[in-house]
Amino acid sequence: MSPHFITTACLDWNDQGTPIAAAFDDIYFYSGQGLAESRYVFIEQNNLAHRWVQHDSPLFVVAETGFGTGLNMLATWHAFLDYRRQHPKGNAQRLHLISVEKYPLTHLDLKQALSQWPELSTLSERLLAQYPNAVTGCHRLWLDDKVSLDLWLGDVADVLPQMEAGLAGKVDAWYLDGFAPSKNPEMWTQSLFNQIARLARNGSTLSTFTAASFVRRGLTEAGFDVTRPKGFGRKRNMITGVRRSQPRPPYSAPWFWRRPGQMAADIKSQTHTVIIGAGIAGASLAYALTRRGQQVTLIEQGAEPAVGASGNRQAAVYPLLNGEHDTLSQIYLQSFLYGRRLLSPLMKEHQVAHDWCGVVQLAFNEKSAIKIANILAPFNTDIVQPLTPDQVNKRTGVQANLEGIEYPLAGWVCPFELTKAFITAAHQSGLLHCHYNTRVRSLNQQENQQWQLNVTHSAPATAKTQYSDSASTHVLLADNVILANGHQIRELWQTRQLTVSSVRGQVNYQPSTPTLAGLNTVVCYEGYLTPQWQGCHCVGASYAHDQEALEYQASDEQDNLNKLTRTLPALNDITPTLGAGRVSVRAVCRDHLPLVGAAPHKSQQLQQYQNMPQRHKESLPLPDDYPGLYVMSALGSRGLCTAPLLAEVLVAQLLDEPYPLTREQLASLNPNRLWLRKRLKGKTVR
Ligand code: SAM
Repeated sequence: MSPHFITTACLDWNDQGTPIAAAFDDIYFYSGQGLAESRYVFIEQNNLAHRWVQHDSPLFVVAETGFGTGLNMLATWHAFLDYRRQHPKGNAQRLHLISVEKYPLTHLDLKQALSQWPELSTLSERLLAQYPNAVTGCHRLWLDDKVSLDLWLGDVADVLPQMEAGLAGKVDAWYLDGFAPSKNPEMWTQSLFNQIARLARNGSTLSTFTAASFVRRGLTEAGFDVTRPKGFGRKRNMITGVRRSQPRPPYSAPWFWRRPGQMAADIKSQTHTVIIGAGIAGASLAYALTRRGQQVTLIEQGAEPAVGASGNRQAAVYPLLNGEHDTLSQIYLQSFLYGRRLLSPLMKEHQVAHDWCGVVQLAFNEKSAIKIANILAPFNTDIVQPLTPDQVNKRTGVQANLEGIEYPLAGWVCPFELTKAFITAAHQSGLLHCHYNTRVRSLNQQENQQWQLNVTHSAPATAKTQYSDSASTHVLLADNVILANGHQIRELWQTRQLTVSSVRGQVNYQPSTPTLAGLNTVVCYEGYLTPQWQGCHCVGASYAHDQEALEYQASDEQDNLNKLTRTLPALNDITPTLGAGRVSVRAVCRDHLPLVGAAPHKSQQLQQYQNMPQRHKESLPLPDDYPGLYVMSALGSRGLCTAPLLAEVLVAQLLDEPYPLTREQLASLNPNRLWLRKRLKGKTVR
C-alpha cells in the first residue's frame, strides 16, 4: 500500500450513540458528557479564556494530538467566539487550531458523531462543509474569518517532526488526546513528548485526561512543569503542564531557516507590506495579508490587475501529480485542495466565471500512457480515477477513443476575474491601497531597516491621446516588500541572481463549433482545450523557453491547433482563429516548483556555507538574506492551483505563524534551494 494512503476510521456505535474506534476498542467521548469533558479538561485547564485577553500576540495557537470527531476543536472555537463577544478588544484576535489524525472519520460518521451536540450545530456544519479528502499532509480550513484549522492527516509520529517550529516554537496550548495510553501507546511516547515541547513556545501550557505516571515523567523530561489537578467527573486526576523557559537546541538545517517579517513594535500596531505585481500571486498575497489585519500596498506597472500570465480567459485548474507522490506532487495536491475550499465561496460572492466540470488527461502516446498509469497508483478515486476510451468519450463529450484519467474535483477558472476578486475582497478590509501604472525602479533598505521603493507613476492613457507621456517619480516606504512580479523579479538587483526563467505562452481563443460545443470537461494532452465560455474555447498553449516577445504569432496558433486535431481528429470543423488569442510570459524554475520565501543574499550564503558537507556537524549560522524582502515567483502556468496556499505559506513566514506545509516541503520552495543543495553535496556553484 502506498505510504500516502490514508485509512478512514472504522466505527462501532454503542446503545447511547457514542462512537467507538473498532481498532482501538476505545470511545471518542463519553455519551452525553463529551462536550462538558472537553471544556473542563482542555479549555479550562489550559486557562484559555483568561489567557486570550492578555495574550502577547494577535494570534493564539492551539494544537492537538488526535482530531477524532473534532469535538475539542469545535468546543475551542465556540469558546473563542464567546471570548470575542465579551472582549472585542482582547489581545487574541485570531485563533489557529492544529490537529493530527491518522484515521480520519468518514464524512458520514463525522456528521453522525457531531449530531449529538446541538449547541455546536452551526459550527459543525461549517466544519463538515470543508472536511477534507482522505489525503496525507496538511489541510488548511478557514472555519470563519478569524479562526483557521490545520488538519494534518498522517501518523503523529511522522507529522510532528515535520512541523516547522521556527526559533521559538509556535504553539500556545497543547491538548493531548490520543486514546487511553493502554490502548494507543504510540500516542504517548517520549519522542512525541519531545516534539510537543519543541513546537511549544516558552510558557505554553498542555493538558490531558490521563494521569498515567509515565506520561507525567515523560512530559517533565521533555521540558514541562507538570501538575495533577482533579480529573473530569468521577476521574481522580488528570495532567496539566507549562513549558519551562529553557535554551533550545541549535536550529537544524539553518540554511533553510525562514526569517519572519519585520514586525511592529507592539501588538496593537500594524506593519505595512508592499507587494509588487497584481497577478494571481500578488492578489492572493494581498487577500491573505489583509484578512490578518495587515496594511498592504499593491504596485502594478499595468493599468489594471492581471495584465500578465494571469490575464487569460480560462485556465485549467488541476493538481500536478506523479506516481511517487513526491514533494512536488504533494505541494500541488495540497494547494489544489486548499484552493477548492477557499475559492468556492469567494468565486460565488464575486461572480467569478468557473466550472468544476472535471479535467480529463488523455493517454495520447506511449509515454503519456505510462505517466498517467503511474499517477493513478497512490490516490483515492475522489482525487483521480481511470477512464476507458468509452468512458473518456462519454465524460468529455468528444470522440477521443483514447484511455485517460479524470480529476473529478478539477475544472477551469477565469484567472482574470479571480485575480480581481481577490483584490476586491482585500479592498473590503479597508487595508489595501493599489497603485496601477506604477513601476518600481529600485529598492533600498534604510538604516532604520525600512525599505524605500523608488517608483515611477505614468498617468494612464486617455481615450483621446491613446498614449501617456507624463510620468512622475515617488518614494514609498514599507516594513516588508514582496516581489510577486513573475519573470521581472530579475530586474531588481537584489533578486537578479534568482534561478527563474521566462517561458512565452500563446493561447488560441477558438470560437465554438458544433463538435466543440459538445465538450463537457477540460481535456489535456500535449496542450489543453477548455469547454466553451461565452461562445469561445481556449486552446493552449505554446511553451517557448527564454522568450519574452509579446507579439502574436500565426505559427504558434497553427501549432496549438495541430496538437489538438492530431489528438482529437473528431474535432474536424475547427478553423484557424486568425489572431484571436493572447500571449504572456510565465516565470518558471528548473525543478517546476515556485520560489517562496526570503530573498536570499546569494554571494553571502555561498560564503557562509562553503566547504559543505564537511561542516555538517558544526553549528552553522542562520542564512544571510535581505531582512524584510520576500519573493513569490516561478508559479509557471499553474498559479491558479498553487497561489492561494503559497500565499498562506509566505504570510505565515512574515507573521511567524504555523505553516500549512512540512519542513521538507518548505525547503523545496525556498528561493535558495538550487544552489544550497549543490553546496550541501560539495558541488561547485556558479
Ligand atoms: N480529540 C478527539 C475529539 O475531540 O473527538 C478525540 C480523539 S480520540 C480519543 C483519539 C484519536 O487519535 C482518534 O481519532 C485516533 O484515530 C487518533 N490516533 C490514534 N493513533 C494515532 C496516531 N498514531 N497518529 C495520529 N492519530 C492517531
